Amino acid sequence: MRLAGKTALVTGGNSGIGLATAKLFVAEGAKVAITGRNAETLAAAQKELGPQAIALAADATDVAATEAAIKKAVEKFGKLDIVFANAGIPGSTPLGSTTLAAFEQVIRTNITGVFFTVQAALPHLNDGASIILNGSVISVLGNPGYAAYAASKAGVRGMARVMASELSPRGIRVNVVSPGAARTPIWKGAAPTADAFSALEKRIALSTPLGRMGEADHIAKTVLFLASDDAAHIQGAEIFVDGGATGSPAGAPVYRG
Ligand code: NDP
Repeated sequence: MRLAGKTALVTGGNSGIGLATAKLFVAEGAKVAITGRNAETLAAAQKELGPQAIALAADATDVAATEAAIKKAVEKFGKLDIVFANAGIPGSTPLGSTTLAAFEQVIRTNITGVFFTVQAALPHLNDGASIILNGSVISVLGNPGYAAYAASKAGVRGMARVMASELSPRGIRVNVVSPGAARTPIWKGAAPTADAFSALEKRIALSTPLGRMGEADHIAKTVLFLASDDAAHIQGAEIFVDGGATGSPAGAPVYRG
């Protein structure tokens, strides 16, 4: 058990990558507090994760609610050793037709929410803790229509490096996991039907050197590594879990003869 005796917070732990990570953390012996907004999926996740977990309703853009949830988690399980600031939203913001509200919602959730999650957790973190922020390949790929999302995830990378500098004196590590397209409910807006999803999956497989879409577990296992002592000397790093989409794009099936 790689996380025996550890306590973790996973924001957005009621769906997709966050839920897969929370399950893995519990299986590895951690006590886990998850947050999210959707009462139904929070209750389902609580049932699935069992008594080693607590599911708490908290909007990551609401600083007071985030602080209150963390306080509850710490009262139940003790001080935190791991924070996975994972909650995030996509959001289409094409040049020419984007409202200020739509742009700001993405930034508020994916950057401001992440910063204040870490700040709220800080007084409750043990020295030597591990913080992992969720980035994205979209911070570097230039996907059309994703300006706010790309900016938010590039911002996460920049912010992580600053946090790593600020928290090194306490031995606290801050790293980023940056997924490529992975099979989670995040795609329900962009690909709402089975046909649309299968077309999306095909496009992604063609542009990914390893020829497939990622799974939530691919990311969760990397987060587990960064959370664990196996990553004890990794600080301020970003690990892409993307089947080669950013590191070796020329190897994608679409370029093969
Ligand atoms: P999901 O849509 O499955 O999960 C998103 C999670 O974030 C949900 O649990 C959701 O909870 C939570 N969330 C969103 N907004 C808020 C908020 N304001 N307050 C609290 N919780 C919130 O998507 P993924 O699991 O795929 O996404 C997780 C992270 O991974 C995101 O940061 C995303 O940007 C990133 N990512 C995902 C990729 C993918 O292809 N899947 C690729 C690259 C990055 P609720 O529904 O209750 O609001």
